[in-house]
Amino acid sequence: MKTRFAPSPTGYIHMGNARTALFSYLAAQAQGGDFVLRIEDTDAERSREEYVDALREDLLWLGLPWQEGPDADKGNGPYWQSQRDAIYAQYYQKLQEMGMVYPCFCTPVELELMRKMQAQAGLPPRYDGRHANLTPEQVAERKAEGQPFTLRFRVPKGEEVVFDDMVKGKQRFKTDDIGDFIIARGDGSPAFFFCNAIDDALMGITHVLRGEDHLTNTPRQILMLKALGLNVPNYGHMNLILGTDGAPLSKRNGSRNIRQMQAEGFRPDAVLNYMARLGHYYENPAYMSPTELGAAFKIENCGSAPARFDEAQLHYWQKEAVMRMDDAAWWDWIGEEARQMVPVDKQALFIETIRPNTVFPQDALTWATILFTPLTLSAEAEEVVAATGDAFLTAVETSVDLSYSDMVEAVKLASGAKGKGLFMPLRLLMSGRHDGPEMAKMWQLIGREGILARLGQVMSVKAG
Ligand code: GLU
Repeated sequence: MKTRFAPSPTGYIHMGNARTALFSYLAAQAQGGDFVLRIEDTDAERSREEYVDALREDLLWLGLPWQEGPDADKGNGPYWQSQRDAIYAQYYQKLQEMGMVYPCFCTPVELELMRKMQAQAGLPPRYDGRHANLTPEQVAERKAEGQPFTLRFRVPKGEEVVFDDMVKGKQRFKTDDIGDFIIARGDGSPAFFFCNAIDDALMGITHVLRGEDHLTNTPRQILMLKALGLNVPNYGHMNLILGTDGAPLSKRNGSRNIRQMQAEGFRPDAVLNYMARLGHYYENPAYMSPTELGAAFKIENCGSAPARFDEAQLHYWQKEAVMRMDDAAWWDWIGEEARQMVPVDKQALFIETIRPNTVFPQDALTWATILFTPLTLSAEAEEVVAATGDAFLTAVETSVDLSYSDMVEAVKLASGAKGKGLFMPLRLLMSGRHDGPEMAKMWQLIGREGILARLGQVMSVKAG
């Protein structure tokens, strides 16, 4: 099995096309096959080098390396379509010799008019074949006049293109509904789906998984490949991803590009566990490593109903992934700012204490700030603290060098406080918050100086 991801580098990859890459990668993994990366940069105006660099980085960050591609030529390169013009020219030539293509001199205005007339007559828009049968003399004459022309593929009449879509099941298209389509533009540049089909065949791609927005290209591609005697891959068209509001996924309703997710602190294995289930079903509902996700992936488990993006699910997998990081990776992930705040001798305890409370690096920064800088009290917390008796606070102060449990005993004894009346003021005194990590550990992390500073702050709140 050989699959591929064939992005057009006109922007950063986002969840939609990253999922296409992922499914293609996983399908190859499951069968011990190869995954190919091909850069479809035929649109010279919109394609940019920086997007190519970014998409390679993003794929590697997600953990989707390719066995064959721009930097791993297995004899089928180049893997940039902009460098394959000579190859496409050969196949145009071949189709021309077979009489399967013809030049069409229709101007954009003429084509627009054709569409309008068809719409008025209640017909679907399709090229009516008006230049399909120009004589060689007529063609020569128009060319001599310098009239620009496109190349159209001659679609056979009265046939049906039938194929088994790996995701959607049997598909049928009447050739009479297709109309002769353009495979080379007026400036001679190849149409994207022409290159796309030729390359799949030449690169030996056996299984094409792509978005269902490409479904209508498929019968055209099959017709061309068959005419050229080239291999037709198996096609599977994946359902759309819908946003939380039911509209196609876009920036407005939850989609982000993979770079943004990385910057937000998402773990790649969280993104993989989430996306691999977005329109694909695994028997195992638990977290799986990328290798396990690959081994258990089945194309037949791809659903054809639209998949709906769910932020809560994504966060669930993020928690699962953070839990599985080792200490060194977690320490690295929380970022420089948080790391700087943690005293060296408290690093191990900080990791142990704060890690269960983090979903994103920001959470670690928040806790480092709480533990290692002066106290911030909400108005509500101030009230509780102000109501705490002097005996309570003095007992904390005199116990500052004791263990947490000895301190608690001393405070109980001195103030008579117990239960919530004991623990809530203590928690607020330490963190300014009603919830958070284990108090005994916070007591150690904040340490003597931190506790004394907090007591000083609380005293001034009470005095004020
Ligand atoms: N370059 C096309 C795209 O990014 C690829 C289509 C395909 O996967 O066949 O949409």
